[in-house]
Amino acid sequence: MHVPPIPHLTAEDPELATLVEAEATRQHDKLRMIASENYVSEAVLEASSTVLTNKYSEGYAGKRYYEGQQLIDPIETLAIERAKSLFGVEHANVQPYSGSPANLAVYLAFLQPGDTVMGMSLPMGGHLTHGWSVSATGKWFNPVRYAVNRESGRIDLDEVRDLARAERPKVIFCGGTAVPRTIDFPGFAEIAREVGAVLVADIAHIAGLIAGGAHPSPVGHADVITTTTHKTLRGPRGAMIMTTAAHASAIDKAVFPGLQGGPHNHTTAAIAVALREASTEEFGRYAHQIVANAAALAAAMTERGFTLISGGTDNHLILADLTGKGIAGKPAAQALDRAGIELNYNTVPYDVRKPFDPSGIRLGTAALTTRGLTEQHMPQVAAWMDEAVTAALKDDEATIDRIAGEVQDLLAGFPMPGYRAA
Ligand SMILES: *Cc1c(COP(=O)(O)O)cnc(C)c1O
Repeated sequence: MHVPPIPHLTAEDPELATLVEAEATRQHDKLRMIASENYVSEAVLEASSTVLTNKYSEGYAGKRYYEGQQLIDPIETLAIERAKSLFGVEHANVQPYSGSPANLAVYLAFLQPGDTVMGMSLPMGGHLTHGWSVSATGKWFNPVRYAVNRESGRIDLDEVRDLARAERPKVIFCGGTAVPRTIDFPGFAEIAREVGAVLVADIAHIAGLIAGGAHPSPVGHADVITTTTHKTLRGPRGAMIMTTAAHASAIDKAVFPGLQGGPHNHTTAAIAVALREASTEEFGRYAHQIVANAAALAAAMTERGFTLISGGTDNHLILADLTGKGIAGKPAAQALDRAGIELNYNTVPYDVRKPFDPSGIRLGTAALTTRGLTEQHMPQVAAWMDEAVTAALKDDEATIDRIAGEVQDLLAGFPMPGYRAA
């Protein structure tokens, strides 16, 4: 049963309520390993569904375009102050609707159409909004892209520096969506300083690890930090932009009125709740456990013959090339989903296959760590993955069904926030 319960929705719109309840059960019964996903707390769920959704608040605290902000102003200010103190930044904007609009605000703040922006190439692990061709950021600006080293699977800062010197980008993005290794923020900062670029650290994936002290912080190195709030940070779907005082006004103007209208106040409230949770000692332990689980899973997968990009992981994320297993990423991801193990197919660096049918899978340990799984469970997870992939090659649906049952049995012992067994 969904928690908080949804009796009114069930009475008024049973068709939708049935789908929501089924999704809660699905999230409970599956080993959720999509690297960008998590389970938020019930307090975050409650804040997300409050009457704050009824209110329009264009502008910022003390400077709004509508009346009735007596309580919205302190709510948004609470979120901002918590972000500032958690990450140790001078300024935070908590209004971006999500990670992609947050990054777009950075373009609006610092670039003119046609200006050069440097980011990691999408198939190497970067994000669409770091200048990929199908994105507005790649169409309206002049993107130049760095890769990872073919042998090490890691970013080669000498190559980044050479490219930056040659192309003189105005903005450099570091961070990505499929980067299993620590981002060298001081290294990127040195390059950005040399070429006079604004350094943007996009910490969408690793924000929770940074908050919990399990990944180095970009603060003091990056001029601007963008992040989603719903990945390892374990908040509602949303985003934040954090900056030095010098860039505060440019970023605020870019978010509103540059790109957005009214902020989503219910989301702002839920972000405030998540930031309070992320400032606890318990969250620090959680962040370290995510990394310990990923390391244990990477070791167990390697033992089972999986090829990991860069040979392992420093964070929550694992990128595996399945070529050696004789299966492509997509059929593997689909079979794993049927086996109760949810992850996504993904390109690997220098992939010889097509983006919609690539060689790899990407997985992460943030959500399963929220459920309470630890290192001791990771050999079993790797064994299931190995068995399911092998079964897929033989069309052995009986084995895949059996694994789904075993996954469900294991997870029955690990409560899910947002769900209670009926
Ligand atoms: C997830 C992600 C984003 C975009 O977030 P959305 O909320 O999906 O728009 C941006 N940058 C990086 C590095 C991400 O991982």
